[in-house]
Amino acid sequence: MIEDTYVSTKDMPWLEFGAGIDFKILRTSQETGAWTVLFRCAKGAAFNPHRHLGGGEYLVLKGRMEVRGGAEKGGITATTGDYGYEPNGVLHDETFFPEPTELYFTNFGAIQFLTPELEPDFVLDFAMLEELGRSAKRQAA
Ligand code: ZN
Repeated sequence: MIEDTYVSTKDMPWLEFGAGIDFKILRTSQETGAWTVLFRCAKGAAFNPHRHLGGGEYLVLKGRMEVRGGAEKGGITATTGDYGYEPNGVLHDETFFPEPTELYFTNFGAIQFLTPELEPDFVLDFAMLEELGRSAKRQAA
């Protein structure tokens, strides 16, 4: 039988991603490497520079996200209800959240995070997310 995936996100605890960013894992796929999360970002939080090693898409549920410095600097400012697609290989400098923001995010592969000097830092993939989820459950138990 083919089974649906269903999660009630309001019943799930936020897990700490770091630097003012929390997340909930909605789905991971070992077969394809795809993963889907909710991100909750505090006012002033930011993702470090990163390279998408698979296309990704987002929907801003509430708040404001500035990609590449935001619209004022030639980048993107995504607000509540806005959708975006980030193609495989795209390099993003800091992604900044000037107000409390929540977004739905799916990535069809890994994301390589870089240091502020654009040196490789770590790779976020489905396996790392699953491990973060397991260790959070152990801490809660
Ligand atoms: Zn990005």
